[in-house]
Amino acid sequence: MSIAHYQQVLNEIAIEVRPLLTQGKVADYIPALASIDPNQFSIAIYTTDGQTVCAGDCSERFTIQSVSKVMTLTLALQRYGDALWERVGKEPSGTAFNSLTQLEFEKGIPRNPFINAGAIVTCDALYGRLSAPRYFMLDTFRKLAGNQSIIIDKAVANSEYEFKHRNAAMAHLMKSFDNFNNDVDDVLWSYFNFCAIELNCIELAKAYNFLANKGVDCSSGKQVLTSLQNKQLNSLLFTSGLYDAAGDFGYRVGMPGKSGVSGAILAVLPNKFTVAVYSPGLNGFGNSVAGITALELLSHKLDISIF
Ligand code: GLN
Repeated sequence: MSIAHYQQVLNEIAIEVRPLLTQGKVADYIPALASIDPNQFSIAIYTTDGQTVCAGDCSERFTIQSVSKVMTLTLALQRYGDALWERVGKEPSGTAFNSLTQLEFEKGIPRNPFINAGAIVTCDALYGRLSAPRYFMLDTFRKLAGNQSIIIDKAVANSEYEFKHRNAAMAHLMKSFDNFNNDVDDVLWSYFNFCAIELNCIELAKAYNFLANKGVDCSSGKQVLTSLQNKQLNSLLFTSGLYDAAGDFGYRVGMPGKSGVSGAILAVLPNKFTVAVYSPGLNGFGNSVAGITALELLSHKLDISIF
């Protein structure tokens, strides 16, 4: 499939999803996200041979929110390997991304690394191995996306911290079950800063291109994950990347994916490309309405999926 064909398809999608932009509801749990204009859309493909295609507001940056959880897991797998799975599970949760109830029943072991509790415990693990986690994470994105101007949105990070109570409750619950080593507030501050990293769709697709390339960053040739870890991570994304809507996303899109409450979604077509989409209006599961439809249209129009 040629780049020109990808471009034509992305242009069509940007037009077709336009009526959906006003249908979702922007995240309102913090003022910094509640004030975002819902009428935005962008989509970018980054191919494993290093080409970029984009449609919509391609230069518009947004906080990546839970899409950062994929990099958190990546960094933790690099440092802990399979030992990480003693602290976090591999099963779909079937509950909301910020649910507390399952954590109580399951004695402080979160179901998977892509719900909040799972990402927070993974941050706790990382906190023990990195001296300045938020700078390390920012630097990781800068290097992989190839842009030193990438920053953390301080207003979003501060706002998340001010309204941290639910995430703090998860961390304290895990601590009560002996599954949390560091100071809760310190780890949450890292977690919120990871969520508040700002990228545009092109940068997001590029930063995660190793997921489509057997764990190797195609720009630098650097092995980010082993091929086996990369397969395992993509498998978990397919089953759990969209929380309690992972089944519906898998059915509609046919690719592993990860969403965030900012309206960002990343999806992976192994050996071909990563694709990032952004549109802030969310459905009841906290996933972008236009974003999911755009990826569904992409998979239909290009006749692609992992199956
Ligand atoms: N910052 C958000 C939170 O911790 C991330 C959740 C998400 O994107 N689903 O609640």
